Amino acid sequence: MNKKDTGSIREFTEAVARRNPGESEFQQAVEEFAHDVIPYVNTHPEYQDHNLSERLTEPDRVVMFRVTWEDDEGKIRVNRGYRVQHSNAIGPYKGGLRFHPSVSLSVLKFLAFEQTFKNSLTGLPMGGGKGGSDFNPKGKSEREIMRFCQSFMTELYRHIGPHTDVPAGDIGVGGREISYLFGQYKRLVNQFTGVLTGKGLSFGGSAIRVEATGYGTIYFMQDVLRHHGQSIENKTCLVSGSGNVALYATEKLIQHGAKPVTLSDSSGFIHDPDGFDLDKLAWLKDLKEVRKGRISEYAKEYGVEFFAQQRPWSIPCDLAFPCATQNEVNAEQARTLIANGCIGVSEGSNMGSDAGAIAVYRDAKTLYGPAKAANAGGVAVSGLEMTQNSIRMSWTREELNNHLGDIMRGIHERCVEYGTESASYVDYLKGANIAGFKKVADALIAYGAA
Ligand code: NDP
Repeated sequence: MNKKDTGSIREFTEAVARRNPGESEFQQAVEEFAHDVIPYVNTHPEYQDHNLSERLTEPDRVVMFRVTWEDDEGKIRVNRGYRVQHSNAIGPYKGGLRFHPSVSLSVLKFLAFEQTFKNSLTGLPMGGGKGGSDFNPKGKSEREIMRFCQSFMTELYRHIGPHTDVPAGDIGVGGREISYLFGQYKRLVNQFTGVLTGKGLSFGGSAIRVEATGYGTIYFMQDVLRHHGQSIENKTCLVSGSGNVALYATEKLIQHGAKPVTLSDSSGFIHDPDGFDLDKLAWLKDLKEVRKGRISEYAKEYGVEFFAQQRPWSIPCDLAFPCATQNEVNAEQARTLIANGCIGVSEGSNMGSDAGAIAVYRDAKTLYGPAKAANAGGVAVSGLEMTQNSIRMSWTREELNNHLGDIMRGIHERCVEYGTESASYVDYLKGANIAGFKKVADALIAYGAA
């Protein structure tokens, strides 16, 4: 990188840090983006003089609100709710809701920022947003979760709408929560519209939405491997997490002849050296989706090892799929992965790798699929749910799976177009950043000073 680029990146990221003090996750996401986009803008005069970087790092709007709800003992409890509407330059705001005690303005601003460029990469007309609450669903009863969701929506409903902002699920928000939220929205506005995605199949949901993020992450890695003359078959794979994304990434790996050997939750990871098969996965889905149990129970059931309070990256593998949460792979863990033979990483989780890990992948020329490309399958099928709601029709599982495969292939092609460094190396992060940026930037330029 030349001196001018380094200087302008530093100047820009320092200004963002001054404007957003203490928001470390947001600053991290902006830095990662600036690293690729500022040098691109410096060599493309058509993107200069529009103040695009500053416009794109200031959310259109942030809504913060009190959520009051009653627990089973009749006590009044208070949480904080948020919706960050980052950019509607290319479509209505779109992005998930996260319910987790770690939720903060910084986390949601980073997620909404990333979402804007991810949604752009899908090729569908969706802007970027993200929201949620510091509410912890763990240990709460069904009724408490329902009352929380209803109270959350009682404020959120004024800020969203099928042409304004269409939220979906994320950590702690699955089909059950989306149903409570949708039921309350419908009651408040007296309209049945596609205002949320991830709905149940009998009331406007889309086939394959539950599976889409996990499946898409694997499809992306298959495209990457194919581009480099390899295949996913027989590859030993590490997966972290055991939620929505992790379970369906594991399912797709099994279906395509790979060997996933780990899963985790916030208490530790399990290692099954024989690999999971579809029977074991059915047991795991029941554990996590129905019984809401802990991953350590698998170790007892199948006689494998459980590593308490650890992440799975020390196990030798060919491919790694972080599918739990942000910053779950650091530089040291990235070095361990590569030293143990890992050739590719595809992120199901948002910002799964921290800045140090990304630098290690870049140095080693690891095939690295960043979240905004690799996990875009979920929001892509959400976009297709919006389309089905608008035309009041449902497509079949097969049709949607074909669309998902095509969309992931399109994302891969866009990354290759802007990220190819040499005959044997594609910098997918650079490709995703530039391709995602261009579409949003073109719209902003067309709008003038809007
Ligand atoms: P879930 O809530 O279904 O699962 C999250 C999983 O990650 C759980 O196993 C959870 O363990 C684990 N986890 C959460 N926080 C931590 C932590 N701090 N340390 C270790 N493990 C942790 O969420 P999803 O599967 O939906 O989301 C996972 C990731 O994928 C997130 O980064 C999300 O933003 C991203 N994503 C999700 C999409 C979707 O469609 N759902 C779309 C695109 C991205 P425990 O149960 O113990 O908390």
